[in-house]
Amino acid sequence: SEQAQYIGRFAPSPTGPLHLGSLVAAMASYLDARLHGGRWLVRIEDVDGDRNVAGADQHILASLQRCGMRWDGEVTWQSRRTALYQAALEQLGALVYPCACSRKEIADSQLSLTGKQAQSQIYPGTCRHGLAPGRVARALRLRVPCGAEPLRVLGFTDRWQGWLSQDLCDEVGDFVVKRADGFWAYQLAVVVDDGAQGVTDIVRGADLIDSTPRQLYLQHLLDLPQPSYLHVPVVSNEAGEKLSKQTGAQAFDNGAPVEQLLNSALLPAARLLGLELAANSVEQFWRVAVPAWGRVVERASQKAQQ
Ligand code: GLU
Repeated sequence: SEQAQYIGRFAPSPTGPLHLGSLVAAMASYLDARLHGGRWLVRIEDVDGDRNVAGADQHILASLQRCGMRWDGEVTWQSRRTALYQAALEQLGALVYPCACSRKEIADSQLSLTGKQAQSQIYPGTCRHGLAPGRVARALRLRVPCGAEPLRVLGFTDRWQGWLSQDLCDEVGDFVVKRADGFWAYQLAVVVDDGAQGVTDIVRGADLIDSTPRQLYLQHLLDLPQPSYLHVPVVSNEAGEKLSKQTGAQAFDNGAPVEQLLNSALLPAARLLGLELAANSVEQFWRVAVPAWGRVVERASQKAQQ
């Protein structure tokens, strides 16, 4: 086709087995890649060494295979790509500065604030102009534009959710790119990898939509193209909490027979994406799911443009 090659991805953090919530994100990104005749990459986001669960990566990969979701190329692990993050950090240059503040200090500094600022732990910029004497550098933060600087307000049209913009100065603040514990921050690693892997289309859960303007900012600074975004609604449990291992999501059963795989994983995940399907086999499931997804995103993007 005339269109540039579509490259999508699923980027799970290996904090536990796949569950209905993460299966929905995997399925949406897979369906969208197949709908566009594109490539679908899998990247294990294991930069947060404290949250990784041994064996969870292989369990997730086995679940994807079990679901008939075949990735293109080699699976990548972020823990093996730290040289790329270091190079990006150097490229950011003087926009990055060391910060000595602990979480508690940031929280305490906000006791006097009210409303949105107080709730969202926006960094008040304490170390922006250098560390006070005797203070020890912990994390590295990226300066965001304030005042009348360009790129302060960044927005995009999400293919599902419509237009979203954030004022990075007021709503986000200078954010961490390398953590006090030495781990690379998600925001930096995800942008560097999506860029390095040529990802054109990001399809993921709406819990990450608020991170997108930060990622657009990093793309600008690192001279990376801006991908297109589609954030699918997050799956919640009966109490309205985002479905996760902590909120009672059932782990994916890699040994389940086909009927159970369809009836308790693939079909329910599809239904959460708005796809009412019937299928007796995994192959048939994908055959009907891809065109059905096309109709759902068509409708969603018409609404999103309004
Ligand atoms: N690793 C992130 C997560 O599992 C997803 C990152 C992304 O899709 O941008 O929540």
